[in-house]
Amino acid sequence: MELIDGKTTAAAIKEEIKAEVDQMIAAGMKRPHLAAVLVGHDGGSESYVKNKVIACEKCGFKSSLIRMEEDTTEKQLLDCIKKLNEDADVDGFIVQLPLPKHIDEQKVINAIDYHKDVDGIHPMNAGRMSLGLPSFISATPLGIITLLQRYNIPTSGKKCVVLGRSNIVGKPMAQLMMQKQYGDSTVTVCHSRSTTLKEECRQADIIIAAIGRPDFVTADMVKEGAVVIDVGTTRVADPDAKNGYRLNGDVKFDEVAPKCSYITPVPGGVGPMTICSLMKNTLAASQKTVYPD
Ligand code: NAP
Repeated sequence: MELIDGKTTAAAIKEEIKAEVDQMIAAGMKRPHLAAVLVGHDGGSESYVKNKVIACEKCGFKSSLIRMEEDTTEKQLLDCIKKLNEDADVDGFIVQLPLPKHIDEQKVINAIDYHKDVDGIHPMNAGRMSLGLPSFISATPLGIITLLQRYNIPTSGKKCVVLGRSNIVGKPMAQLMMQKQYGDSTVTVCHSRSTTLKEECRQADIIIAAIGRPDFVTADMVKEGAVVIDVGTTRVADPDAKNGYRLNGDVKFDEVAPKCSYITPVPGGVGPMTICSLMKNTLAASQKTVYPD
């Protein structure tokens, strides 16, 4: 069994990005600029955004954090997005999800200029990605594809089971694994209504678990030699941990790992790659490689 080390891989990629940014600056180009909008004070969102700001520093990007209160109106948020769309210095921006319940999330996503949608969640990017056209690809699925590539894990013609069908992970992941230029796999998607989920998993060469159910994937669901990618990050109470909780994956790691050819840990697997992909997308936005005109 080989452990897929997302932390080390992400650190290496951030150094590569930094070297590219240094060259851009030396050539007189503008420093890439990522902005993040954070509405409210959700603990998880605060720490995700903080990590994104730290990653920007590591990559040599400029970053801006726009904080808005929990009672921000939808109109105020849409006005903020309009300003960011029009700000020529901002190459890309993200609106940290989830948003407070009184704000229509899809309306907010639709308002983002897709040229600056480095999270790859605007329908234009999601649709273009599905068609195999140049687009900003949702950060977590892109991070997983990068891990599979960097570890030279064969995916072409393999049977891949994706657990979960969310717009930000499951759906784009399944699309990428199916497409010829990425996974080129035979893909099955399972969700909460799937009646043959265990049987599907047992036949899979690659399992990508993104359901947010701690320890859901057990050893009896995994065939010998399978590749297992664990996207799940659920906070579970842990009196021994500094903050009183730890992040738990969707895979029962201790019993599944011995059966795998490759497996990602939680934390230190997919998580660091998600932020790294956001940085890659921001660099691409600043270099206008996805949308040249
Ligand atoms: P989500 O929007 O809640 O979607 C969960 C999906 O899992 C849904 O499609 C749901 O099915 C399915 N599901 C839930 N319970 C199930 C069960 N018992 N059996 C089969 N399917 C089940 O979640 P998400 O945003 O995709 O995130 C999934 C997990 O990944 C979470 O733990 C999240 O924290 C984590 N995550 C991690 C990163 C990272 O960077 N590491 C990034 C994003 C998300 P239905 O559609 O039928 O409801």
